[in-house]
Amino acid sequence: MTPITSPSASPGLLAKSSFQRFIDALMAGGYRVMGQRLCDGAVKWDDVRLVSDLPIGWRDAQEPGRYRLEPTDSGRFFEVVNGPESVKRFAFAPREPLLVIERSSKSFQATPTLPKGEKTALLGVRACDLAGLAVQDRVFLRDAYPDPYYRTRRADLFLVAVNCARALPTCFCASLNTGPKAQAGFDLALTELDDAFLIEAGSQAGRELMPRLPLAPAPEQFLAEAEAQAEACANSQTRRVETAQLPQALYDAHEHPRWDQVAARCLACGNCTMVCPTCFCHAVEDVPDLNGQRAEQARVWDSCFTQEHGYIHGKNIRPAVKDRYRMWLTHKLASWIDQFGTSGCVGCGRCITWCPVGIDLTEELPALLKKA
Ligand code: SF4
Ligand code: SF4
Repeated sequence: MTPITSPSASPGLLAKSSFQRFIDALMAGGYRVMGQRLCDGAVKWDDVRLVSDLPIGWRDAQEPGRYRLEPTDSGRFFEVVNGPESVKRFAFAPREPLLVIERSSKSFQATPTLPKGEKTALLGVRACDLAGLAVQDRVFLRDAYPDPYYRTRRADLFLVAVNCARALPTCFCASLNTGPKAQAGFDLALTELDDAFLIEAGSQAGRELMPRLPLAPAPEQFLAEAEAQAEACANSQTRRVETAQLPQALYDAHEHPRWDQVAARCLACGNCTMVCPTCFCHAVEDVPDLNGQRAEQARVWDSCFTQEHGYIHGKNIRPAVKDRYRMWLTHKLASWIDQFGTSGCVGCGRCITWCPVGIDLTEELPALLKKA
């Protein structure tokens, strides 16, 4: 697992022509290497063995309710910023078997089904997704009751961050201080320049890998170029979320008429929760076999936008779409802070892109904070 530590003070320089050796070094270290690969007009996390598996020659164009890949001749390896999947699923699995329950004569036996460990290196994790994972850690690894299923998966991750060189119109990490440069929570962080990568370590595991890479010392001019690139990326972000008045201002907006307006557009499809790197709602389902001898209990991702999610003890506490959108936004930006000491939004912009009707929380929040 990636401890939150300060990055190493001495980054190295890796020529782009040597990037295959970087992937090979991860595989030689026993890691299954995964990165964002082209799939069905977007990108999804999948196995990466060769440099050519990366989506080189493509970039993503994102707007509210719209995602497209476009060809580019930039030659950069990590020009596609993100797709619908964050790295959440590698620690908090979409479907996690918890127990197998088996009947034996007049008794039964319940056996926990902890996941089998598999060392996995995630190549190209964005700063906002690292921040999202840190939020998940707060939820699932709380001191007294760490979740053993999450903890097992999380311990096997080796996180290779990529500092963003371009921001999407939907990004607003800079306003939440969660990007575009990875600050913590990574094993290695890459900054892609035109002909080389700057690589710095952020954990002991990362520092141990560095000597196995064909690195040259990083000249001052490259460090300055990397800083300038990150600053330009932050400055290019046009969306932002102002947190100064939160959480109280959002609690005070509980009866604001804007909730009705957004509810009139919202389809309650749950896309925003499925793509969000911090949403952690889940349900538990029991799947019995046909002869009643064996059942599996599993944890599955759930969404606060479904009718069933608000059903508690014979009553639905969020029967209307308005109730559910209000619950989602208020939890993300207000009660999450009370609950976990941090915002539930890391500014990745996915909920804006993947909302089929283009509902945009960076528009909704200021509208809700205006007096009706
Ligand atoms: S609420 Fe939206 S922008 Fe914020 S972290 Fe979740 S998906 Fe990303
Ligand atoms: S806000 Fe958009 S993505 Fe979320 S439930 Fe409503 S329609 Fe679906």
